Amino acid sequence: MTTRTPVLLTFDMDAETLWTARDPDGANKPVWVSQGHYGPKVGLPRILRLLEKYGVTATFFVPGQVIERYPAEIESILSAGIDIEHHSYSHTWSDGLSRDAEAEEFQKGFDAIVSATGRKPLGWRSPAGELTPHSVGLMEQYEFSFSSNLFDSDTAHLLSDAGRVTDIVELPFAWALDDAPFFLYSNRLQGRVMSAPSAVAETWIREYDGISTEPGAHFMLGMHPQVIGRHSRLWALEETIRHIVDAGDGEFVSCADYAARVRPGLVEANTP
Ligand SMILES: [Zn+2]
Repeated sequence: MTTRTPVLLTFDMDAETLWTARDPDGANKPVWVSQGHYGPKVGLPRILRLLEKYGVTATFFVPGQVIERYPAEIESILSAGIDIEHHSYSHTWSDGLSRDAEAEEFQKGFDAIVSATGRKPLGWRSPAGELTPHSVGLMEQYEFSFSSNLFDSDTAHLLSDAGRVTDIVELPFAWALDDAPFFLYSNRLQGRVMSAPSAVAETWIREYDGISTEPGAHFMLGMHPQVIGRHSRLWALEETIRHIVDAGDGEFVSCADYAARVRPGLVEANTP
């Protein structure tokens, strides 16, 4: 039996919190914040239609504030049978937070997911692209089975915390496999140039072709509905999905299911 390459499509549906977290005065900048509204209202339905077209699953990471603000959109994700995982409450960049403030973000985000979905989240992705000294302990406190934060590997491994190996499965990804470095743009973000969708599709397809030759490696894309949800960018995602489907050697799977499957074979962490 050949093992198929796990394909993990992940969407961080940050909506307005992506912008309010970057600028404390963001709430007073309607154009700035309106970029976030596009994600759940316009990008999300297109993404769900694309996933349905190919019969593939995904994982959504959603801040609690977004869950509370967009109940109908959250329901559309759940109706598609897609898991919603933890991505903080307010998307406040946690690398500047005290332990108490980060703990409150965990609790409120957790409560919002349980209240809206009836299911406890099993995984956490940091809103800051960084872990604090308290993040791993908080993940353990909430009995998360997986983390998707590090960039250290293309292979699942156990997460460590100050040299101690935990029971949490880390599912690493990479900026090269994220839509934001290619496409995120605002007239207030200096130095950003939008990439051609064809260049992004080529990057992702070539990454898949390499990863799919390596036993144990997984292919994870990190995306944002407000970024990937435009037609030109969805084309890049569809090209990638179609390539994987045509190759016939990939398996689209949720992060939680993949973490549960791979956990028994993991004994050590990649990084100290
Ligand atoms: Zn985010």
